[in-house]
Amino acid sequence: MGANACNSPYRGRFAPSPTGPLHAGSLVAALASWLDARAHAGQWLVRLEDVDTPRCVPGAAEHILQQLATLGLLSDGPVWVQSQRSAAYAAALTQLQANGLAYPCACTRKDIELALQAQGRSKERHTELVYPGTCRNGTGGRESRAWRLNTCAAQNFKQNLPPSLSSTDFFATPVDTVWHDRRLGTQRQNVPQAVGDFVLHRADGLWPYQLAVVVDDAAQGITHVVRGEDLADNTPRQLLLQQALGLPQPSYMHTPLVRGANGEKLSKQNSAAALDLQDPLATLNAAAAVLGLPPQQGHLVDVLAAWTQHWKHAWAAS
Ligand code: GLU
Repeated sequence: MGANACNSPYRGRFAPSPTGPLHAGSLVAALASWLDARAHAGQWLVRLEDVDTPRCVPGAAEHILQQLATLGLLSDGPVWVQSQRSAAYAAALTQLQANGLAYPCACTRKDIELALQAQGRSKERHTELVYPGTCRNGTGGRESRAWRLNTCAAQNFKQNLPPSLSSTDFFATPVDTVWHDRRLGTQRQNVPQAVGDFVLHRADGLWPYQLAVVVDDAAQGITHVVRGEDLADNTPRQLLLQQALGLPQPSYMHTPLVRGANGEKLSKQNSAAALDLQDPLATLNAAAAVLGLPPQQGHLVDVLAAWTQHWKHAWAAS
């Protein structure tokens, strides 16, 4: 894996997508990342992840920043906006292409479904299809639509080694990516098998989350990522990209999810209610309870300071 960033001064971030206002689930991640930064006497940065423009809702970015401000959670630096960062993502793609780690793909979703069906693997995943690697050998004369990471080659890639020692073998044996999560412990995923060669540049011209998040975490010098557990299984893809791009690897902690009455995780997709900001303290106490922090009363600043002390005891050494 890439160089470890943990010896640098702490820089954390909260990176909401402006696809709607924050809900009780996203506040847990916001509060945890803020407390972790304060407990390490570090910086906390807010970044708006608006690369998936069709899913973004006008006014949601301003709404989110307003919600955070009402809760006393203010970015320690300028708020980065991913839609303004296309040049950096394009440069990262160029670097991956130059190192033979990216390849053009001509497949439509239908093509991928048919290829998986032919292999008897169509039901493996409900939402994301595991790309069967069809275009690794070339697009067969079909028009290229997207770019994908060759995950097997990326696993073997070592930056700064002479080409003879740095394998970009397209067909290397897939192996598990193993990583440590500060809350979940040792995690592993075989990215080529579990996810397949994932997209680096979308057919519609948009930049995907995986590439944008890795490029920006590095560009902002993020040393610690604290975010919701729903993203834990995205981490190995991000580790692979960091390795392929020669970027430092932050430490990761994934926080508990909030479930609705139906047992499903709260999300904007299942219309989780926006936060109640009539009573910011009650709203913060609900998020803190999910993180195992004791209820607090008083001024917002004092309440946040008290939880910072609790957090320090529980997590600062991890
Ligand atoms: N933008 C992502 C979301 O809102 C979070 C990404 C991250 O924290 O890495 O779910």
